[in-house]
Amino acid sequence: MDFESLCKMLTAAESIVVFGHMNPDGDSIGATLAAGIILEKMGKRNVRLYSRDGIPDFLKFLPGAGRLLDRNAAAGAPPAQLALLVDCGGPKRIGDEFISLFNSCGKTAVIDHHATNSGFGDLNITDPDASSTCEIITLFAIESGIHIDTPLAECLYTGIMYDTGRFMHPNTSSKVFHLCAELVQHGADPGRIATEVFRNRSIAYLRLLGYALDNLKTEENGAICWTVIERRIFHKLNAKDEDSEGIVEKLGAYRGCEAHIVFGQTDDGRTRVSMRSTGRVNVGAICAKLGGGGHDFAAGLRSKDPLEVVIPRVLAETRAVIKELK
Ligand code: 5GP
Ligand code: MN
Repeated sequence: MDFESLCKMLTAAESIVVFGHMNPDGDSIGATLAAGIILEKMGKRNVRLYSRDGIPDFLKFLPGAGRLLDRNAAAGAPPAQLALLVDCGGPKRIGDEFISLFNSCGKTAVIDHHATNSGFGDLNITDPDASSTCEIITLFAIESGIHIDTPLAECLYTGIMYDTGRFMHPNTSSKVFHLCAELVQHGADPGRIATEVFRNRSIAYLRLLGYALDNLKTEENGAICWTVIERRIFHKLNAKDEDSEGIVEKLGAYRGCEAHIVFGQTDDGRTRVSMRSTGRVNVGAICAKLGGGGHDFAAGLRSKDPLEVVIPRVLAETRAVIKELK
């Protein structure tokens, strides 16, 4: 990865805007905040950090969380010389509200680990073998001689822990452990961070999870399981979007599951699909075929079509792949 060019590009830019992706997870937020800290260390004074949907409560303990600007800050935001997109497989992932700000920026740098990343930046630091965007940024910090203090270590560790599914997904390489050991040495506390992220959820999250599990459906002798969380359920349970984060991960915990799916609805009326694989079905390919994207084993899509149309479409594609396994 061309860290030298990235360093030059960051050094040359006087004003920089950093974007993570919408419905942000631990890797997107960790990477955005880490970028903010690194740019500060590089002496950058004109830096703005954007996250369309703000920051979920379970990540608010991260240092610098208060710096994040959400979609309400999009209108009239001044352009910058450089847009840095982290954890975004494509420019649309930053959210429609930010597209005109993004287009008004001089240059684009991308740091990402999605295999589906099209290389849309002027400079692309992408590695589909990296567990997370935070893994790439950790390497960048080390190789560029940027001092990793406790706040930076905490942001980076959180992103890696999140995208490896607590060091359980197949992307958990020995490199991940080496880098995390380094981050722990520099002040990241694994026990505290795990508690903050995973044991600090809302009651609404547990109620949504209960609803999702209660309404679980299976196909192909359990090879596929899926559930729907309609918008009205969020209202009924007083839940926010972020309260559904992580629910899809819970569905694949029984023997024989190959693919697990949560169908939902965004606040602007689109259908949202969250797909996971236990290792044999490439859900990234399925989502990409239907207009979404992501990783081989964790992917998603958004569609203007209603649930009744999207559900059978996704299930048909998944069934076809399952049938080929046998
Ligand atoms: P999640 O299911 O947690 O929302 O997303 C899982 C993975 O799929 C993430 O890596 C995310 O970046 C990607 N992903 C989710 N939704 C979309 C989408 O609508 N379009 C694209 N291209 N990728 C998505
Ligand atoms: Mn990621």
